[in-house]
Amino acid sequence: MLRFDDIRSHEIPRHTLQAAIQRQKVAHAYLFAGPPGVGKRKVAEALFGALLCERGGTQACFECAACKRYEAGVHQDYRVMEADGRFIKIEQVRDLSRLVHYPPIEGRFKCILIVDAENLHESAANALLKTLEEPSSSTVFVLLTTRAHLLLPTIVSRCQQVRFAALDRATVASLLMEKKQVASEVAHTVAAMSDGNMERAFVLLDSDLLAYRTEWMDRLVKLPTASVSDMLLWAELATAEKDRWEPVVELLRLFVRDVMLVAAGIPPDQLTYREFLPQLIEWSRKISVHSAINLLDLILGAYRVTQFNANPKLMMEHLFLQISACFSDDV
Ligand SMILES: [Zn+2]
Repeated sequence: MLRFDDIRSHEIPRHTLQAAIQRQKVAHAYLFAGPPGVGKRKVAEALFGALLCERGGTQACFECAACKRYEAGVHQDYRVMEADGRFIKIEQVRDLSRLVHYPPIEGRFKCILIVDAENLHESAANALLKTLEEPSSSTVFVLLTTRAHLLLPTIVSRCQQVRFAALDRATVASLLMEKKQVASEVAHTVAAMSDGNMERAFVLLDSDLLAYRTEWMDRLVKLPTASVSDMLLWAELATAEKDRWEPVVELLRLFVRDVMLVAAGIPPDQLTYREFLPQLIEWSRKISVHSAINLLDLILGAYRVTQFNANPKLMMEHLFLQISACFSDDV
């Protein structure tokens, strides 16, 4: 569990919530909406930590008995509700409604976290709505969602919305270096590939991607002048093992992106392929912005196509050939 001060990003949500605690104007229900893996739950836990702490400050002390019980996951006024199977069911919401009826057992507030609130089954959502419509002053709900548009509008309107943005690359990279002790170059590549999603960054780090990262980057920077037989071989290599092609496509996307950034004069520290700067400069002179945008479209399209079980090898061949053609057309 973290305190507000331990969370580096999401400055606006943190300050909004701490100000509400300080002014004793904590809402009955919050909807934390934003992309996955950015730490919405950590912020919710920091909020609940403050509300459950015996000292009544704007963040948990982690020294009092209540904080210790909260950290150990045994505080009686704290509940987490998440999908049982695919959905959050009406029985779960009914149990919760009973709890909401009674005053807090240990402290001043009852804190209820609803994880992936978009999984509320329709009947469960309607039952929850009734509970939200009759707020008790001592209950605080936090609903987490990555897809707010799937929630009942009536539920959304009952909650104070708190928006979360994706983490920036520098934050992801520094967290990776700090928590996993990885080298700066590796941290920056993984950060670039994670789209501001910390969970995805950890998964990427644990995958064998890093072992062949340099190998593939080395290949991809030669792509604009590679022979057709090389490209066909690479397509085979990229798809020889299950789940390998996706990181390769991602490295490809970052390569084209870097070429565009170099063409736009963005400083090298923003680049994923920093160590290949001379090649990037060379390629940036050989492709128009228009072609680069087309390439990015093509790469993003590749993700969609493969979700429908298309043939990854054919897709990789097509991608490599198209990219190579774009560079030679624009010379
Ligand atoms: Zn405390």
